[in-house]
Amino acid sequence: MLLIYPPVAKPTEPPPGIALLAGALQGQNCPVEIIDANIEGLEYLINKPALQDDTWTKRAKKNACAHLNSLRDNRTYLNPARYQRCIADLNRALNQTTERATISVSNYVDGEFSSVSSHDLLAAAAAPEKNPFYDYFSPRLQQALSSSRHEHIGFSLNYLSQAVVTFAMIGHVRRIAPQITIVLGGGLITSWMRHPNWSNPFAALVDRCIDGPGERALLNHCGIAVNHSTALADYSQLPLERYWSPSLILPYAASRGCYWNRCSFCPERAEQNRYTSAGANQNLDELHQLCQRWQPGLVHLLDNAISPALLDGLIQRPLGVNWYGFARVNERLTDLDYCRALKKAGCVLLKLGIESGDDQVLAQMEKGVTSALTEKVLTTLKQAGLATYVYLLFGTPGETPQAAEHTLTFIRRNHAAVTFLNLAIFNLPTNSSDAQQLALRPFYQGDLSLYSDFEHPYGWNRGDVRRFLEKTFKKDPAIAAILRRDPPQMTSNHAPFFVEGC
Ligand code: SF4
Repeated sequence: MLLIYPPVAKPTEPPPGIALLAGALQGQNCPVEIIDANIEGLEYLINKPALQDDTWTKRAKKNACAHLNSLRDNRTYLNPARYQRCIADLNRALNQTTERATISVSNYVDGEFSSVSSHDLLAAAAAPEKNPFYDYFSPRLQQALSSSRHEHIGFSLNYLSQAVVTFAMIGHVRRIAPQITIVLGGGLITSWMRHPNWSNPFAALVDRCIDGPGERALLNHCGIAVNHSTALADYSQLPLERYWSPSLILPYAASRGCYWNRCSFCPERAEQNRYTSAGANQNLDELHQLCQRWQPGLVHLLDNAISPALLDGLIQRPLGVNWYGFARVNERLTDLDYCRALKKAGCVLLKLGIESGDDQVLAQMEKGVTSALTEKVLTTLKQAGLATYVYLLFGTPGETPQAAEHTLTFIRRNHAAVTFLNLAIFNLPTNSSDAQQLALRPFYQGDLSLYSDFEHPYGWNRGDVRRFLEKTFKKDPAIAAILRRDPPQMTSNHAPFFVEGC
């Protein structure tokens, strides 16, 4: 079995999905090879000659290797201007290699094929040579398929930014190895397959699409009958020293789904993803084993919300390494001793989906928190010396312009406790309960689009929200100062390295 993680996704840490699948397959003595085609492909393009030779492009290409080394050096994160120059030059070096697509260190937008149109993805598969990564993946796939007798090849498709390249690679595999079985899995495929309109438009090209956790399905596909897999991720085949971070980041998901699972806007709820976890004790056993084996500099907890039991466990059985992840605002986080204990246990940053500073909006979203509680949590985390990455969501069906102003006031008042800030405009999941009650307007043109635009009940439409964010919210001096801290493109993936003491 050959497993591939295609471009483009942030190359800050090894891809956890294919590493977990590798561990599961090897645990059953099933030979497996894994390739992070994302980091290989990005570095290939960065070193490829540019189409233009303007001064900036020449400088970007000349310094590309040095910039990659800088991103792997702690000292760069003490100098935000230097970090920003690295990212800007790497984007330039990538983007100037093709006229067919807009490529950055974190995104890929094809000029011809849409990532949310099955027709376009099949067209990308029919013409792989058009893809900007073709010169990389054509010899690489040839080499991987000829050096071992793989019977199956699996692609891990998690983000829209990977979709067009994934299908170009699949189309190429079909040409050079028509006998091989092609399997497609990952977060994006899962979301597509769980949509009520899914009718597998890829059946003629892909042998099997897998939704949800792939370990059992993949083992069964290879003829190994198991009910569940408890294998650990195996990163041994990945180029761990090459990721674009100053130390190895170990990604780990202690759960799937979300233990809260009630927020009205949330795709987890819309997709009816069940919450599953092996439990805090087993999570901690696994985390200790993984840290012992891979010696990371930072653990990235991938859970939608780290459970209170796991937070307690991390205090009682510290990993001896820094960690960060998403937590839900809750009463425990108003206890200063508890927050200090989290910090002592290695927590450097908590990501918090605060969404709004208006209580009516929070109630309408079923967030289960109030702005007063959130304010107390922010204050306590600040007192304990923990950094925060705060996520806000504007333009939800319950929000009015006045409510958005309340959010602005809330952040301004708490600006000292907000280390980083992410602003998003609400995308309505087409299969959510809210979508049944609203007048919908097409958002992305394409049969695979998971979101819809809608007629806002208070006339607070996307254009108005965008104007408010650009002209009012981002212009507030306290908020502008927070936004300037955000690591461009890499955002929360690199944010912990900008936190003192990480
Ligand atoms: S806490 Fe986060 S993941 Fe959980 S339901 Fe709410 S938005 Fe979704």
